[in-house]
Amino acid sequence: YQVIAMNYNFFAPQQICFGWGRFQETGDLAASLGTRAFIINGSRSLESSGVIEELRQLLSRASIKSEFIRTISNEPEVSDVDQTTNLLRHWGAGAGDFLIGIGGGSGIDLAKAASAMITNQESDTVLDYLEGVGRGLKLTESPLPLLAIPTTAGTGSEATKNAVISSYAPPFKKSLRAEEMIPDIVLCDPQLACSVPPEITARTGMDAITQLLESYISCRAQPIPQALCLQGLKLAIPALPEAVENGNSRRGREAMAHAALLSGIALANSGLGMAHGVAPALGIHCKISHGLACAMMLPATLQANLSVRQQEYGEIYRFLYPDQTLSVEQAAESLITEIQQLNDRIHIPRRLSEVGVSQAQIPDLVASSRGNSMSGNPRQIPDGELTQILESLL
Ligand code: NAD
Repeated sequence: YQVIAMNYNFFAPQQICFGWGRFQETGDLAASLGTRAFIINGSRSLESSGVIEELRQLLSRASIKSEFIRTISNEPEVSDVDQTTNLLRHWGAGAGDFLIGIGGGSGIDLAKAASAMITNQESDTVLDYLEGVGRGLKLTESPLPLLAIPTTAGTGSEATKNAVISSYAPPFKKSLRAEEMIPDIVLCDPQLACSVPPEITARTGMDAITQLLESYISCRAQPIPQALCLQGLKLAIPALPEAVENGNSRRGREAMAHAALLSGIALANSGLGMAHGVAPALGIHCKISHGLACAMMLPATLQANLSVRQQEYGEIYRFLYPDQTLSVEQAAESLITEIQQLNDRIHIPRRLSEVGVSQAQIPDLVASSRGNSMSGNPRQIPDGELTQILESLL
């Protein structure tokens, strides 16, 4: 047997409450975090369907005051974080207060960033704290407590220590990161995802699958995340088409919500790889949503790492299909085929040109792909090779 990285730190949320219908427990859970909640919502649909109003009632029944801060409908930008922090200051947020981030990765990331910015006041803008841009300030104070309620079954942001923040001018997508930013409590009620439309279910679900695969093969892979990745993949690969094709499928939504949560825990500890390296670049330069970008890059990423991770692909495939008697080489190839077929079944486009990417954008895409995620890829992908890979996907 092979032993990997038997020397590690492992981070996860302090408390995870997972279960169908457990949104009703929000008040009791939140009571341990403070007496006044600031709600940041990641989807207009949660407002129009009455989920936000219900959240406020549940809090009120537990004697928790709530202030509705804002709804965000796009991936959060620097200005969103700064405006949200200003609103929190306006409300006098401080001791005894906490934040609730409800929604997909966008809403949860905005809540994570604002909860850190309200206590770290060396600069008025989050720009100065983002990795590799601004003044390079460090977060020194603990964020306000945070309850994360995920609703998309994708990013796993509810379990990670970073918030991804975008800027279009100048173009970058960077993280605000600190171990203390892992939400204090995660309330994951898979029923909340039933209203997510099929296309978004497909894209966000492939983000989770990409995270599970990239964490498993990352050059920073660790034993606990690897075990979680296998469980997550076994759930998500059959469940994603079910959740896309029947949004009310309890089985499909539960499996995807659980897989996404596991993918967040895995990536927070093991890092990611090439697909997540390129995805922010596709988001910033070509306005492609994060999940779609990951999904489109995943087969090529697996192919690019086959030479150094054949054994791991084989392990994953054999775990997924223990009855099949295939050699490691065959199992590894089968995994890549399986992922491409999954993408095809849930209507993820194969060609980057289909989603508006042009040849002229490739140099910018390559230059913007060198973030933290790319550094987890199992082997170095030089600029020339990344250019060829992106050209082959046009
Ligand atoms: P999202 O949060 O942007 O949501 C996508 C769409 O789904 C939005 O239109 C939203 O309104 C809608 N939606 C959300 N919940 C819904 C519901 N219950 N019913 C109906 N519609 C709903 O998408 P996402 O993929 O979850 O998050 C993407 C963001 O997360 C990106 O900025 C990405 O970079 C970031 N991200 C963060 C981490 C992290 O660890 N912090 C990890 C991966 C990705």
